[in-house]
Amino acid sequence: MKSVKAETRVWRDIFRRVAGEMGRKECETWLRPAVCKGVADNVLLLEVPNNLYREFIKEKYLGVLEEKAREVMGPEAKVDVEAAVAQEGLFLGDAGPAVGPAKFPAPKLSKLNPQYTFDTFVVGRSNSFCHAACRAVAQNPGARYNPLFIYGGVGLGKTHLLHAIGHATIQKGNGVRISYLSCDHFMNEMIAAVKNNRTDSFRRKYRNVEFLLVDDIQFLAGMEGTQVEFFHTFNTLYEAGSQIVLSSDRAPKDITKVEDRLRTRFEWGLIADIQPPDYETRRAIIASKADLKAIAIRDEVADLIATRLTTNIRAIEGVLNRLFATAHHTGTPVSMALAQDILGEIAPEERRASLSIDQLQEATARYFNVSRRDLLSKSRRANIARARQMAMYLCREKTSSSLSDIGLAFGNRDHTTVMYSISKIEGELAADKDETAKVLRDIEKNLERLSL
Ligand code: ADP
Ligand code: MG
Repeated sequence: MKSVKAETRVWRDIFRRVAGEMGRKECETWLRPAVCKGVADNVLLLEVPNNLYREFIKEKYLGVLEEKAREVMGPEAKVDVEAAVAQEGLFLGDAGPAVGPAKFPAPKLSKLNPQYTFDTFVVGRSNSFCHAACRAVAQNPGARYNPLFIYGGVGLGKTHLLHAIGHATIQKGNGVRISYLSCDHFMNEMIAAVKNNRTDSFRRKYRNVEFLLVDDIQFLAGMEGTQVEFFHTFNTLYEAGSQIVLSSDRAPKDITKVEDRLRTRFEWGLIADIQPPDYETRRAIIASKADLKAIAIRDEVADLIATRLTTNIRAIEGVLNRLFATAHHTGTPVSMALAQDILGEIAPEERRASLSIDQLQEATARYFNVSRRDLLSKSRRANIARARQMAMYLCREKTSSSLSDIGLAFGNRDHTTVMYSISKIEGELAADKDETAKVLRDIEKNLERLSL
């Protein structure tokens, strides 16, 4: 095994090369969540969130991954993809006497992550509403918020909250039949049931619970058979007054390729979103994680991490774990230098969050061979207008500027103009217009090259 640092660098290099050949959205969805677990005997091992990812990546991207791995690691390089050890699956609370008609074996082990409780969940402005909704549902299932639909970006605590609901429910000890599973799990199990002629018992199993928690429901998109099955499960449970909680990385209205009748059901109850944490919440989370591990972390180190990693709590945890591990290993306290080092390895992407509007305007202008003055002018010449739209989109993506800030920086334009430009580009990206994604990538490459 090479050192962790070298592995991360190798993976980062491969990642960049592969990303250069796929659409941005595609890359964010499928490749970004992959974590390099190590390199041994020319095999780069990647860990992805679940089986669905594994299957998909193996089917669609293994070729290009291995191609790029060979470029970076040498002609013998191979890539292996494995799913993260499931922290999910079906579990049942201490079921008590079965009330329903069916008897089904209660799995021995609860698959909830013992650390994902309400106690360890740090509440801040970005997640307080969602947190309150989850607590309410745990306290009083099937009553007011049914279904509860929570959504938010990757690594913002959706799974944590679902597990917390599970723990709280089990702790009450009143024998509620509850099950937690990922959408992916539901689908795999259904497929297996169909194959083995066991659909009846599959149905009984899920249509009999009193509390159903389904994680990452966005994966139903495009899975027609699973949608039909889930639709009926949903109806049966809903009519029986069972509580349903669903999580997703986007709002119901943004889950495309899902039947309308299902989407409207997602919207029947309460929809609660989680936003990326603000600085204070990030600091509080860092403090809390350090506390849980009984490790002291200096203010300046906590500040550095909270400043550099802004959009994903899992990434914050990743850095902390590496920091703690290294500090533990070497018997040295967590130092600023070590933190800088690890952040440099792990978060090169997020560093770009500190890009300025000026830099983005400059890089875009150069790419389109126009001047920055042109960008800010009123000119409607086609390539200037195009460059302007792209630049506005990039400013929105890469800086924390508001629409009005951006408008101001582009020759004092109205924020609705900015919004129009951005949604135009977003529309093209959503429609998988490769051309648009490629231009954006090239501009970003320019940024790096020009070290703007
Ligand atoms: P998601 O399911 O939204 O992708 P997770 O629930 O897996 O995200 O969270 C990623 C990691 O961040 C988990 O280890 C979780 O414990 C941690 N985390 C997320 N939000 C919080 C929070 N508010 N307080 C403490 N830890 C959090
Ligand atoms: Mg999750």
